[in-house]
Amino acid sequence: MINGVNSFAQEKPVRTNPWTPAEIGVLPPLPSLTNGVWLKGELHLHSRHSKESSNNSIGKVLAFCKLVGIDFICITDHDNHVDGDVANNTWADPEFKSDSVLLLYGAEWTTTRGHGNAFSAKPYDHQRLFDVRDQRDVIVGAVKKGLGIHLSANHPSGKDNFGYSYDMVESVEVWNSSLWSKNANAIMIWDDMLSSGRKLTGRGGSDAHHGVPDSPDKASSNTYQRKANYAGTPTNWVFATARTQQAVVDALTNGRVSVSANPFAPRVEFYADLDQNGKPDMMMGDNAKSTGKPVKFRVQLSGKLIADSSYTINVVKNGGSFGSFKANAKTSFIEFTDSPAITGRTYYRIMVEGPQTAYPQVPESMALSGNMVALSNPIFFNFDPNF
Ligand SMILES: [Zn+2]
Ligand SMILES: [Zn+2]
Repeated sequence: MINGVNSFAQEKPVRTNPWTPAEIGVLPPLPSLTNGVWLKGELHLHSRHSKESSNNSIGKVLAFCKLVGIDFICITDHDNHVDGDVANNTWADPEFKSDSVLLLYGAEWTTTRGHGNAFSAKPYDHQRLFDVRDQRDVIVGAVKKGLGIHLSANHPSGKDNFGYSYDMVESVEVWNSSLWSKNANAIMIWDDMLSSGRKLTGRGGSDAHHGVPDSPDKASSNTYQRKANYAGTPTNWVFATARTQQAVVDALTNGRVSVSANPFAPRVEFYADLDQNGKPDMMMGDNAKSTGKPVKFRVQLSGKLIADSSYTINVVKNGGSFGSFKANAKTSFIEFTDSPAITGRTYYRIMVEGPQTAYPQVPESMALSGNMVALSNPIFFNFDPNF
């Protein structure tokens, strides 16, 4: 106080926040909407190489995937039971081969600060990631980058939640297991990350550990789980440029992904027509610069919808509710129009509720999933690729 006047108030400097989102430059061209194939897969499952797993040989898992038409899988055994030496068990198992299912290389990075899944199209030195698990995030992030792998935060709000910086992951497990109700906080964390400018892919994973015993005497105390949660609960759909491991990982990184309750449930596809010429220009995972003009969005439910039933399509905009629409087997799409802000970021994503499609191979999963049918990744506007 000088002569009764608050000098701070008088001399308050004009301050600008250097981190305020500035107008972003030219974004890379949008990838093709037609040059690709929809593939479905499982991204979190444990075989007998995880010590708390039972009756789940890799051969059993892959035969099941083939049976239900799963196109790709990452068997994510825990790394710690073999001191990180993943390359010498899961991947080296003679049963780790398939003539129909694309096998990704990965493991569940199992650490004091939680769990994350590593995904790769080819073998990598997992031991290096295991070795730095208790180091500071800048060190972990550098090692992860050097390995060239896709890292994903697992069950972010449950037991063994991912306790590292989300700046070093490409995706988040927003749908863990058939028990949908436990994922509410994971969805909240995902929206927080998206709203703060982190373009992270949302994905699912059953986290199944237990298979069918060869004979009744081989059953374990967890055998009952097999009927309720197994490969495909939930199912990840990726729009991949080819039927290859690398194209699957790339689609996952780019967010051209939606998740359905099981392999037979409808798949949600989300498109936007930027210039309103009647043809979509972008899909979920894609990022465009907003012109301030209205954009027409289209949500398509593909696959087999249950006749005489209604599906509710909830649109989330920037973490909040934008609107709710109805679709059914006869009219399996909805459209809406909105103008993304010309400055600052905007994202839209989709959640679909409705009747459960039967999954006879995992019959008790339907009740656990409740009304949750599918979710999409966002369509993004003005997200800075250099964030
Ligand atoms: Zn875990
Ligand atoms: Zn797991």
